[in-house]
Amino acid sequence: MSEYIRKDGRKPNELRPIKIEAGVLERADGSAYLEFGGNKILVAVYGPRESYIRRLLKPNTGVIRCRYNMAPFSVDDRKRPGPDRRSSEISKITAEALKPALMLENYPRSMIDIYIEVIEAEGGTRCAGITAASVALVDAGIPMKDIVVGCAAGKVDDEIVLDLSEYEDKEGQADVPIAIMPRTGEITLLQSDGDLTEEEFQTAIELAMEGCLKVSELQKEALMKKYSTEE
Ligand code: UDP
Repeated sequence: MSEYIRKDGRKPNELRPIKIEAGVLERADGSAYLEFGGNKILVAVYGPRESYIRRLLKPNTGVIRCRYNMAPFSVDDRKRPGPDRRSSEISKITAEALKPALMLENYPRSMIDIYIEVIEAEGGTRCAGITAASVALVDAGIPMKDIVVGCAAGKVDDEIVLDLSEYEDKEGQADVPIAIMPRTGEITLLQSDGDLTEEEFQTAIELAMEGCLKVSELQKEALMKKYSTEE
């Protein structure tokens, strides 16, 4: 790693401070709260349950539905309430990133609903949302092959760096958010925005993977804290 020090004082391979709490909502089947740098995200999970939207149900498999939403006060310029192109895209890719870990074939005619509420945003909310949603799914008691975790890497000032802040996301040259199933390393989300050489792209993915593994430990700690039977 180079000696490059970032605007917020981080080293290239340093994550922002992270806090994860499992099971924070009474009424949801599962929930999680996550702080990732300046991001504050709350996730509620319901299901598997029979849905009132019957046309969405499938006879042979369960269905996962995700809604990513940004609060109007979560960003500097007020965000217009309601869905838009960006939130629809993030809802879709989040459901797709989580789906490989869920054994949906065990829940025909059922639906798992995931609500991701971004209360404050500071870059990297899609990865943070996926990370929190996965903890909420475990909290809901839904069996999973693995706890999916997300983290981004990117290019800022010609350096490959881990976990871009909002400033780095906006001023940087590239952003590569990924999500993985840490046990196998299987990638369930891979996006790339900006210009990278093939070598830089490879380095960014490796760095993002390292970041994912670190965040994965914090997911497990949060769940252990909630569910450990030790006094
Ligand atoms: N953002 C914003 N207004 C918006 C959408 C996003 O200020 O309407 C900020 C927010 O901090 C977000 C960042 O821009 O985290 C980067 O957004 P991007 O679309 O790259 O997704 P993210 O990095 O959050 O997954």
